[in-house]
Amino acid sequence: MEKIRTMIYEKILESEKRLKETKVIQINEIKENNNILRSYNKLYNKTFIGGQYEWLGRLSKEIGELELCVHKDDKAHYFLEKNVKCEKDINGDFYIIDKEKSDGDIANVFENFKFPILEYTKVQMMEEIKEKGFYEIMLNTWFCHNPKNGKPCGMCNPCTYTIEEGMGFRLEKLARFKNRFYRIERKIKNALREKM
Ligand SMILES: [Zn+2]
Repeated sequence: MEKIRTMIYEKILESEKRLKETKVIQINEIKENNNILRSYNKLYNKTFIGGQYEWLGRLSKEIGELELCVHKDDKAHYFLEKNVKCEKDINGDFYIIDKEKSDGDIANVFENFKFPILEYTKVQMMEEIKEKGFYEIMLNTWFCHNPKNGKPCGMCNPCTYTIEEGMGFRLEKLARFKNRFYRIERKIKNALREKM
């Protein structure tokens, strides 16, 4: 993150004044909230939604003005797309939960966030990044949950999503190869589970 920060400072005029300090918060420091937990579990039972949205929802009650970069290929997009409205400020368009038409559980978890890139795909983001000259910075972003020797593992969910969302070039050949086997193995296991 420090490397990315330095690259941004070098590339964007006055970004040192605009970019806030990084604040580290441990998950166990965030206040419990049974209301959010209940709503998250209900959503999870409908279809998979990452566990981070439960504690992020709780965090959003403690810190205002949080932006959540859910994008079009994300699993959470499915929950949000029919429950948001578009608004505008000096930084451009963003989405927020539309409380008048939103499902109560979705509002409970997501109502304190702004979604600035909800309608972007990862590939669109990359095209815009290239256009604006920030490609080198993007190559230093991180997504893998279990890196091996500082390189993406190819086996975790974010690695799988990175490949599925058209950004497979971010992983080395061996990691992509492992990912293909991992997905085949998972399909076989799921098929066997359904038969049992
Ligand atoms: Zn990984």
